Amino acid sequence: MPCTDDRNSAGRLTVDLDALVRNYRAIAARTAPVPVAAVVKADAYGLGAGPIAAALADAGCRRFFVAHLLEARRLKSRLPDDAALFVLNGLTPGAEPEAADLGVIPVLNTLPQVRAWAALAAERGGALPAAIQLDSGMSRLGLAPAELDALLAEPALLARLDLQLVMSHLACGDAADGSASEQQLAAFLAQADRLPPAPWSLSNSAGSFLDARFHFDLVRPGLALYGAEPHEIPGRALEPVVSLQARVIQLREVPAGARVGYGYSFETPRPMRLATIGIGYADGWPRALSNRGAAWLGEIRLPIVGRVSMDSTILDVSALPADALAEGGLVELIGPHQSLDAVAAAAGSITHEILTGLGPRLHRSYHGTQS
Ligand SMILES: *Cc1c(COP(=O)(O)O)cnc(C)c1O
Repeated sequence: MPCTDDRNSAGRLTVDLDALVRNYRAIAARTAPVPVAAVVKADAYGLGAGPIAAALADAGCRRFFVAHLLEARRLKSRLPDDAALFVLNGLTPGAEPEAADLGVIPVLNTLPQVRAWAALAAERGGALPAAIQLDSGMSRLGLAPAELDALLAEPALLARLDLQLVMSHLACGDAADGSASEQQLAAFLAQADRLPPAPWSLSNSAGSFLDARFHFDLVRPGLALYGAEPHEIPGRALEPVVSLQARVIQLREVPAGARVGYGYSFETPRPMRLATIGIGYADGWPRALSNRGAAWLGEIRLPIVGRVSMDSTILDVSALPADALAEGGLVELIGPHQSLDAVAAAAGSITHEILTGLGPRLHRSYHGTQS
């Protein structure tokens, strides 16, 4: 559970639900009339699947995706009754009855998964709602062409599926060179065409910003809803949804030659003022930012010095006026001066990883629609 006490937590994660809804509408305007589903796996990328899904449902979203049945179980009761909840990773053998009782739609990725779901449907004397994923080139999840052949050879199996979606996933949707996506599009078309009629879906955030040929009947953005750019194209009108502030837990003055942090990886070249903030790699603040990232206070950049520790990080705050920062004060880690994308780039990571890593010790507060 997230900390409920802002002051006693590692930092303050603020989620702007109005910006979230504006992003949802901006993507929907872009893909209209194709509807936008919300990918809320990994606790809505760390932002809190409950409040995120509730805000999007209020804005009209009726299709949601999680990765695991466990996530679906936690979320289902918080969604409107007429919302569809898809489970991207399919079902573990034996989990079928629970999934059916819960009323979720498994994305069936393998022939054994199709068989198990069809068998349960037969047992219950009907058809069960299902999505089928096709592997259009990524070799991660979904039926390979030969497995699709095998499935089509058994019409009795398909008859047990109430096919709600046929989908695949782009491996290189954000690549400047679109040739890999074109190949996947062609492969998906050829394979999906062989299945009984159903809505089709191929695109995540990046694909939602490709041309309409990639949109089919449903797009499935995650990251773009949360305001991070899948890649830089001006004029997308996506807004940041998340800001992160960390609290100063100690201030000190050190002489030249002071050694800083684990491994003494930094030695002060001159007398410095240092601030230790109470956020570390256990909170998802990347250790790769040791001696390279920064925090901000107003317009002033505060470089990280020494290694990022598990629960704390040390900043060089020498550039600040002496009374600008006190113990207990807050500095900006993600916000107007430092985007999520900038943090990811500095850490040699991607925005998805930074966002989903932000941990439960950060106090989450929600602004906008719900408050
Ligand atoms: C995670 C995921 C998405 C959303 O991806 P983003 O890059 O966050 O938009 C869509 N579809 C599938 C199958 C996924 O696994």
